[in-house]
Parts: sequence; C-alpha cells; structure tokens
Amino acid sequence: MKVGFIGLGIMGKPMAKNLVKAGHEVTVFDFKQASIDELVSVGAKAAKNNKEVAEKSDVIITMVPNSPNVEAALFGENGVAEGIEAGKTVIDMSSINPLASQKFEKKLKELGVGFLDAPVSGGEPKAIDGTIAIMVGGDEDLFNKFKDLLGVMGGTVTHCGSVGAGNTTKLTNQIIVALNIAAVSEGYALAKKAGLDPQKVFDAIHTGLAQSTIQDVKIPMILDRNFKPGFRIDLHIKDLQNALDTSHALNVSLPLTSEVMEILQVVKNDGNGSDDHDAIAKYYEKINDLKIER
Ligand code: NAD
Repeated sequence: MKVGFIGLGIMGKPMAKNLVKAGHEVTVFDFKQASIDELVSVGAKAAKNNKEVAEKSDVIITMVPNSPNVEAALFGENGVAEGIEAGKTVIDMSSINPLASQKFEKKLKELGVGFLDAPVSGGEPKAIDGTIAIMVGGDEDLFNKFKDLLGVMGGTVTHCGSVGAGNTTKLTNQIIVALNIAAVSEGYALAKKAGLDPQKVFDAIHTGLAQSTIQDVKIPMILDRNFKPGFRIDLHIKDLQNALDTSHALNVSLPLTSEVMEILQVVKNDGNGSDDHDAIAKYYEKINDLKIER
C-alpha cells in the first residue's frame, strides 16, 4: 500500500519504520530533516512537505503532538488538503482532543476523504516492537479496510466507536496512567520518609492488590533516578488539558485529574517538562524534602 507518514518523533519514527519493514511504500515528512534522512536510509521516500505526502499516498498517517499540529499538517500551507484526492483516507494517530477529531472528519468529508482517529498507547519500546495498543474511532467499514495496516504497528487494534471515540478512549487511558504514577509516588514517599528500603516495599506489594504496570515499570525507574523520556511531562499536560476540556464540554467532573494536572504543572515550572512522566515523583520529593531512591 502507498502510505504517507507525517511526524517522525519518538513514536512516529519506529512506527513508520515498521511500515517500511512490512513492505509498504512509505513517503514521509517531518520538519526535522535528520528524521526524514533516517527513514530514507531504511527504505522510505522523502517528501518536501505534507502536500507531497498526500499526492504520493493512498492513506496518510499523522503522528504529531496535538490538535493544532494536526490542523497545520492537514489544512495549513502546503498541507495534506492541498494534495489529497477524493477516495483517499487520513488516519490521525496523534493523541488529541476528540472534538478536534470530529472537526477534521467534517472538513475532510467535504473533500471526499475518509478519516479515522487512531491514537496509541504503549510508548517508544512498544512502538519499536510493533506492539502498541491502537484505539480507533470512525466508520466501521473504513476501520476494517485499514485494520491490517494498523496491525503492522500495533499489538491490539480496537474499534471503539465513531470518530472521536479513539481519542476519548486514549484520554481515559491517560487519566488512569497519570493518577497511577501520582499514587505510586505518594505511597513510596511515605515509605521512604519512614526509613524503609523502597526495593523491599516493591518486592512486598507489587504482586498484591496494588499491582499495576505503572508500579512495575515506573518505580524501578524512579529508584534508579531515570527520568529520561519515554513520555514527556509536557505531553501529559497536553493530554490532561484535553481530558478536562472534553469533560467540561460533557458536564463531567474529574477532581483527581485536576489535582494531578496541578502536580504536573509544578514539575514543569521547576524546569522538568521534558522529563519522563515518572518525574511526578519529583513533586512528592519537593514537598516532603526527600528522595525516592535506593
Ligand atoms: P514528538 O514530539 O517526539 O514528535 C512529534 C513530531 O512531529 C516531531 O518530530 C515534529 O517535528 C513533528 N511535527 C509537528 N508538526 C508537524 C507538521 N505540521 N508536519 C510535519 N511534522 C510535524 O512526539 P511523540 O512522542 O512522537 O508523540 C506523538 C503523539 O503520540 C503525541 O500526540 C503523543 O501524545 C502521542 N503518544 C506518545 C507516546 C510516547 O511515549 N512518546 C505514547 C503514546 C502516544
């Protein structure tokens, strides 16, 4: 299949590489020339802008940070809309506001172009392995048409409902992840202040009712002082902002999400916005004057 891929960052780069490896003809664009060059070195074709990506591809995937970036890639100058023809499809795999996904679907429909929102979960290691979880919103027939293509990048590909449902599912995921990191940080801050060995606490509780992937993955990283992203604090702020915007539009109250949003903001204000989201632990270290370390 002729696949266009826009946005070659932490996630987009390995995802696009997996499409090349699977034998697809992949045309790529990013603002960073080095990222384009890296993809060309493994067999992708370079485009000079997003318009050219659309001209050369039957399906165009976007993997950029947030709604305004998707809007720019699709409808900005030299964007996808300038090069696309009716009958083609856009799949946005970025994590964005579901209301924005619905807006993009409407604008593309006027051009005769299909749209799916298909954000992902799992982070860079799973993007490299091709085992990310992909949650998709959109017309079911269109989903079935591209399920196998998405399966090249993902371990699970789930149809969640109409356009926007993919991103609402992703926001649900992001709320649970952020609150979970805050929960484990809070628990281990207490254990540390009480003079316990955090590794022994981990060994004692990580298979009990408090068991979570977050505890299994993030506590060893925090204890090793490893805050290398992974998933940046700045991106999690973006996701929780989208969650709060969506919840307010739906008259839903998310009190713990608001609280953790402010914690993330403190971490960012302290200059750690580019850290992995496990740096939520730094907030607990700051307010309690301790280090959650071995
Ligand atoms: P990133 O910042 O590493 O990469 C984004 C890339 O998009 C950059 O290379 C940037 O130059 C490019 N870009 C931005 N606007 C563009 C445009 N108009 N045209 C072409 N290229 C453009 O981000 P990332 O970590 O790869 O995340 C991408 C998306 O995936 C985000 O929505 C993020 O929330 C989501 N996500 C990330 C992770 C993770 O662990 N990093 C996990 C799951 C989901």
